[in-house]
Amino acid sequence: MARPLMKNYINGEWVESNSTTLGDVWNPAKGEKIAQVAYGTKEDVDKAVRAAQQAFWEWRTTPPLTRARYLFRLKEAFEENFEPIARTLTTEQGKCIDEARGEVRRMIENIEHATGVTTLMCGYALEDIAKDIDCTGHRQPVGVFAAIVPYNFPGMVPWWFLPYALVTGNTFIVKPSEQVPMTQTHIFEIVDQIGFPEGVINMVHGSKEVVNALLDHPGIAGISFVGSTPTAKYIYRRCGETGKRVQALGGAKNIVAVMPDANLAASMPSLISSFYGCSGQRCLSGAILAPVGDVADELIEKFTAAAKAMKVGDGLNEQTAMGPVATEAHRKRVLGYIEKGIAEDAKLILDGRNYRVKDYPNGFFLGPTIFDHVKPDMAIAREEIFGPVVGIVRCKTLNDAIELINTRGFANAACLYTGSGAAAREFKYRVKPSMIGINIGIAAPMSFFPFGGAGQSMFGDIKGHGQEIFHFFTDTKVVIQRWL
Ligand code: NAD
Repeated sequence: MARPLMKNYINGEWVESNSTTLGDVWNPAKGEKIAQVAYGTKEDVDKAVRAAQQAFWEWRTTPPLTRARYLFRLKEAFEENFEPIARTLTTEQGKCIDEARGEVRRMIENIEHATGVTTLMCGYALEDIAKDIDCTGHRQPVGVFAAIVPYNFPGMVPWWFLPYALVTGNTFIVKPSEQVPMTQTHIFEIVDQIGFPEGVINMVHGSKEVVNALLDHPGIAGISFVGSTPTAKYIYRRCGETGKRVQALGGAKNIVAVMPDANLAASMPSLISSFYGCSGQRCLSGAILAPVGDVADELIEKFTAAAKAMKVGDGLNEQTAMGPVATEAHRKRVLGYIEKGIAEDAKLILDGRNYRVKDYPNGFFLGPTIFDHVKPDMAIAREEIFGPVVGIVRCKTLNDAIELINTRGFANAACLYTGSGAAAREFKYRVKPSMIGINIGIAAPMSFFPFGGAGQSMFGDIKGHGQEIFHFFTDTKVVIQRWL
């Protein structure tokens, strides 16, 4: 059977790229090719930028409340298509269907937050800044923005930016991950029914050529990037060179510390979800488990038992606790890290290398894996593995755990499980990462708080969503007036 080819969405129409380079899209649970995507070109990007530029002025002069009404309609349409979007997402990305549902919910929440534009886009004013002189600051849209996004959250991540850019009067281009282009294509089929003015919202599929064309194009005012740290650094540098606004969110190596006074039984489900949810392919996933003091043996025993009990399989099965990783290449990369951990003399206490799932012989599966006695300077304790591999670094004191966190380079998220308010305060006060969970294993800010880390996990100062995003997508124009 012919596999569907993902098309670009430019100027309100579905258009094929003239590219001859086609990529395969996989169902990672089955290990089967299910679609194709053309790796777009500079010409595709130019077409999309021109359409977005042409649409800008009329959209920009449309009242904010009218712009918000498009988003209200979009929210309703997404609610009606909620389950089909989640199923497309799991089919191409592999994550469990319940997590996919959570992702679609978070996508919709960004639309809901953005509709507060008439409050959140307001400027400010002060009379009499000097004798008979008044001053006002107005937030104005800037032009055409683009989002370049990763493979692990193919539904939600573009919507950390897109609704805010649109509602503030900018026009937009999304470049989905070439590994998982079907979810955003499904989403844009719904966008197409809403009747946005042509060119206001566009999508170009592809890989590096599309990214570079967006970075080079003088018609692009700013870039919102989410992906790995090396790519984030590249995007940040190139936007500096070409004079674009930029927010570039990178990779992570998150540490979850557990104090002796933590309630282990109550914490176990969220600990397991932190490390193994989405097969460890979340930027907020726990990567290092750091037991503090004498909780270590009991914690490790309980955590290992819970990890062993997890059902690994097709994410579309409601009983599955962990799906496959997204590609065979990524599975091999994670396997390479397990070999590295063994070579570094960490103690492999749960081995997921040869995990088999009945009836899915070709799926990209890995079983839950745990290394004990990991040392802070080992590669498996420093580098982002992005898979279901847990490294346990035993710490003597809370101070050791904080030191461990603050010497990682990555500074995305950190979590502490404890019954002590004093320990929690010290932890959240001193650690460098900027998304903190206290008795929470996935410290994911909701749409009305900013999402993003520090250090090597984030380049730029305005993060994803939250109130500050209204600044990223607007320029504050100051008007000083005297009427004689
Ligand atoms: P990636 O950096 O490989 O790709 C991200 C995007 O950049 C894709 O659209 C891809 O086409 C493009 N790209 C990749 N290499 C490029 C290059 N050399 N030149 C130009 N463009 C390039 O990331 P990924 O593997 O898709 O996603 C996983 C990574 O994303 C992990 O590191 C994860 O921690 C990170 N992530 C971070 C956050 C966050 O909030 N900080 C959220 C989700 C994912």
